Amino acid sequence: MAILIEHPFVQHKLAIVRDVATGHKKFREISKEITQFICYEALKHIKMKEVIVETPVAPATCHKIDTDLVVVPILRAGVGMLDGILDLAPTARVGFVGLYRDEETKEPVTYYERFPRQIKGGTCIVIDPMLATGGSTVAALDLLKEHGAGNIIVICIVTCPEGIELVESAHPDVKIYAAAIDERLNEKKYIVPGLGDAGDRLFGTAHY
Ligand code: URA
Repeated sequence: MAILIEHPFVQHKLAIVRDVATGHKKFREISKEITQFICYEALKHIKMKEVIVETPVAPATCHKIDTDLVVVPILRAGVGMLDGILDLAPTARVGFVGLYRDEETKEPVTYYERFPRQIKGGTCIVIDPMLATGGSTVAALDLLKEHGAGNIIVICIVTCPEGIELVESAHPDVKIYAAAIDERLNEKKYIVPGLGDAGDRLFGTAHY
């Protein structure tokens, strides 16, 4: 299931990151802010526990987060969303997945993986700004589940119907949170209208 975050703050910031005139410094800052708003909404239903806290006046019934949070950026562009989530959830652990696309088979190949053991029993948040074909997201979800993860969500900035369908068919239990569900993929597998290559725009490596 894909959940669109339609809050005006998110949509306003999305207009800035989509703009070809936005340079990498601003792109990075605004992507971080968008990620934080989406994450805030996406984690609305995480497991909580009741605790009694002594205020200076009397005991108060309060609620604290009762799950380990593990953020999993898909390299490289996912790294651009990491700081935003760690600012919100400073005790979250971080796992990494590195994938490339085999030019012959067109299938994603894992070149790096490292997960904290808390993926088992905790809440995993897979981050990648562009959920395009869905191939790398599905590969990351496959890996996480092979390592015992059971509770996983995906946060992206822009996605499209093709990517959502692939993730939904392979992992119907995983919810996708996004600031935009765009029209389609083009022949180069870029999201249209999208925002271009998110990794290049985040890290200032565009060659145009
Ligand atoms: N990855 C990107 O960075 N942009 C797209 O449009 C698709 C995949």
